[in-house]
Amino acid sequence: MYEGGCLCRFVRYRARGRPRHETVCHCTICRRASGAPSMAWFTVAVSDFEWLAGEPRTFQSSGHGRRAFCPRCGTALTFWSKREPGLIDVTTCSLDEPECVPPRDHTQTAGRLSWDKSGDGLPTFRGPRPATGDHRA
Ligand SMILES: [Zn+2]
Ligand SMILES: [Zn+2]
Repeated sequence: MYEGGCLCRFVRYRARGRPRHETVCHCTICRRASGAPSMAWFTVAVSDFEWLAGEPRTFQSSGHGRRAFCPRCGTALTFWSKREPGLIDVTTCSLDEPECVPPRDHTQTAGRLSWDKSGDGLPTFRGPRPATGDHRA
């Protein structure tokens, strides 16, 4: 069980099940959406995710993806793609305990900024993680 929410605590959520696809994404859309060099994500089944409080706003962030954020404070919360409608990505750093879901790799590093050097030794993929196909953007 994982709980989290936005900075102002208007929006709260809960995710069940085992997180998958834990990654740090370096794509340009994540950069713009967060105002940060990269975003950490994990994935759960849509059926294992629920909003507990507040009402997030969503916007279409690409041809296939929608992102949800807090309409009051702007915290980025989730990503959903019609390419994999049964899954939802959650921003790791909106968790109450982000240490519990550490990233296992870096994805979309073709767009990584030259000064964004983590040195954490995790595997890197220039695009999406090969085994899981494309779903972040
Ligand atoms: Zn908020
Ligand atoms: Zn991304």
